[in-house]
Amino acid sequence: MSDHDHTLETDDDVTYCAVHPTRETALRCNKCGRLMCSDCAVLTPVGYRCRECVRQHEDKFYTSNQLDYVIVAAVCAVLSGVAGYIISAIGLFIILMIFIGLPVGGAIGEAALRAIRRRRGRQSAYVGAGAAAIGGFLGGLIHNYSLLSGYVNQVTGNSGAQVVPLDMAFNLTIQDISLLVFVGVVAFAVYGRFKMRI
Ligand SMILES: [Zn+2]
Ligand SMILES: [Zn+2]
Repeated sequence: MSDHDHTLETDDDVTYCAVHPTRETALRCNKCGRLMCSDCAVLTPVGYRCRECVRQHEDKFYTSNQLDYVIVAAVCAVLSGVAGYIISAIGLFIILMIFIGLPVGGAIGEAALRAIRRRRGRQSAYVGAGAAAIGGFLGGLIHNYSLLSGYVNQVTGNSGAQVVPLDMAFNLTIQDISLLVFVGVVAFAVYGRFKMRI
């Protein structure tokens, strides 16, 4: 036993890849310690690891449960809804929407990631982006609806008794290209934020 330990310590002892027994290597996985050749080694942010350990890490990486998807959807929809409402209210140029939408979407994605403590699911980028798109559109719709009811009440002199047809507000919202661009950019940025592995 002590002989064996001794040979492992020896410098000129030749070692081989655990997967490819003919390939000489001294490189070891920094997690499990197995020997691996340059083909088997994967460079990760924490050093060289074997494919087995990388796969295990990826499985651990996707730790989302069903509730996480609900939280991601809720956070993205609500925050994007607020943003959509504000954007619909101030009505900026389309080109500005791209510059505003990217950081807003990035921040929304970040907030959703924090809400689920950075657990990721294979679908969370799609869930977040989809919820952000729907939420942003609804935010604009709610703004337009309240805008229209304000009009109607003003014209009729009533306070709150008039009912505004929802399709009027809907038509107003889908014709608001600036808002739609904004919502699209936000959804894209949310997706991107989830795909960034940090
Ligand atoms: Zn390993
Ligand atoms: Zn190998």
